[in-house]
Amino acid sequence: MEAFCDKAKTIHTIEEAIVLLWEAIPTPSASTTEALALAIKAHEGQTRKSGEPYSIHPILVAVITAKISNDEMMVQAALLHDVVEDTSYTIEELEEAFGADVAHMVEGLTKIIEIRDEEFVSTGSDDRLINSALTFRKMLIASIKDVRVLVIKLCDRLHNMLTLDALNSEKQRRISEETLVVYAPIAHRLGISKLKNYLEDLSFYYIYPEDYEVIDTYIQKNAQNLQMKLNTFVQQVKMYMLQNGFDEDEFEVFGRVKHYYSIYLKMQRKGVSIEEVLDLLAIRILVQEPLQCYKVLGLMHLSFTPLISRFKDYVAVPKENGYKTIHTTLFSKEGIIEAQIRTQEMHQLAEYGVAAHWKYKEGSSQVNLKMVREPTLST
Ligand code: MN
Repeated sequence: MEAFCDKAKTIHTIEEAIVLLWEAIPTPSASTTEALALAIKAHEGQTRKSGEPYSIHPILVAVITAKISNDEMMVQAALLHDVVEDTSYTIEELEEAFGADVAHMVEGLTKIIEIRDEEFVSTGSDDRLINSALTFRKMLIASIKDVRVLVIKLCDRLHNMLTLDALNSEKQRRISEETLVVYAPIAHRLGISKLKNYLEDLSFYYIYPEDYEVIDTYIQKNAQNLQMKLNTFVQQVKMYMLQNGFDEDEFEVFGRVKHYYSIYLKMQRKGVSIEEVLDLLAIRILVQEPLQCYKVLGLMHLSFTPLISRFKDYVAVPKENGYKTIHTTLFSKEGIIEAQIRTQEMHQLAEYGVAAHWKYKEGSSQVNLKMVREPTLST
């Protein structure tokens, strides 16, 4: 996904986009190949603001969808998502060619555009904009019954955000505000942190460019130092685990710098500068079984001093969107580092949320709609 987001900006031809699609779906069904052909044909002659052929957009939305869900029906709907809205094709024709399921998803995606036109004013004061965005978000959650449609919509929005440079700065800001108020919270509600973090960071870049710059400059300038601290800490954690009964192939430890928008929120909340944000770094420890999470937790707390006020056990008490992980903040010689402890399965759920069901085909394919129906989404 990281690699894709970097690459998306460098794609300028339909052929390049198709290469990425077949990389994401190495053995496509005949219907997927057909959906691709129809999308290219239907959008023929249409261009995006950047001047590039329009069908690059639905193809790359399909690539993102494939990375999130692996469900080929969703990929087909993604390929066709703008066909009914922007070309002469009808839902009935799509139903005939691709079946009721795909057609319904395209219908839902077309309906979102209608709701947006009715509920969302894209000009006016900031207050008016925020209010109408909140109404739009509520309407969207109330009227879109199929969660898959919302997931494809989020992928659509991610690609729009990745290609926002082609628009003027006023539009960039408006679309980013909409993304931050409408779509990132929906991604959060669906538990798809992968999409939520990208949507937030991309919006942040366009809405608060100076603040983004401050954080980016600091992180870039200290990249080597931060990476060294992370590596040292990760090695220490691995060593403790190996010394205490874990086999090498039983667990994984990753280090990362937290995503920019979350750093920004922390600076705002605490009224501090980037230099004063002490926990820029986080590690993730992935184990096999839930009980092992607690063994790791014990090990971490005995090896490093925990900042106990920051301890959260979402394994025992999951978040509303299904998120499970133990969070603890540790003091080490390398500074303050947040540790997230979870099983592989919890990790998939945390990254892909509702889409994890489709992506990993484990457990029930029935997605709990209740968790997206919640009218009070936090921003
Ligand atoms: Mn689109």
